Amino acid sequence: MRSEPADATDPALETVRPGQPTPGRLGRVGPGADEGLADPTGAGRRQRHELWMRRALEIAVTGPSSSGPTSAGGPVTGDPADDVPVGAVLYGPDGAELATGRNERELTGDPTAHAEVLALRRAAERLGRWRLAGCTLVVSLEPCTMCAGAIVLARVSTVVFGAWEPKTGAAGSLWDVLRDRRLNHRPEVYGGVLGTEAAAVLRAFFR
Ligand SMILES: [Zn+2]
Repeated sequence: MRSEPADATDPALETVRPGQPTPGRLGRVGPGADEGLADPTGAGRRQRHELWMRRALEIAVTGPSSSGPTSAGGPVTGDPADDVPVGAVLYGPDGAELATGRNERELTGDPTAHAEVLALRRAAERLGRWRLAGCTLVVSLEPCTMCAGAIVLARVSTVVFGAWEPKTGAAGSLWDVLRDRRLNHRPEVYGGVLGTEAAAVLRAFFR
């Protein structure tokens, strides 16, 4: 299956995989790849995505500064230092930071406490609605199946992720939940943004 992309006839749905950078598009995957014609180089967007990714990496390393150490005041059962450093930030349509999340699986003993899920929950709580259309989720690691599913359910418009995750990734590595044509919502996806820095944060943890 991997050697034969389902959308091989549609150049706009070309999948960018690790080790296969697309010159000038910085790992752009997903529908509407011709978007941004007024900005052919995508330089402004790339700068914005990299700026946002630096924020996500900061969250990955230090944890959310304002949202508190635990998920919705849940019980603390572990040490945050045991958690794989993954950070996520949700930005509103105007580019304002709505919420952040850091992986808290060990800290809270919650198997669903991934950075993306926490950021989505907090943003929805803040906005008072589950529908996050127009928002951009920035996360330091390629989302897993659970998080990709939650992102689709929340109608997030754009996903920007850092390091590729060949073992569990659901945004192009193992699965491509985010742009599965059988689903009624498909966000735009930018993968590998500051991928080297993002991978270094993880390598430092597992060392
Ligand atoms: Zn996840």
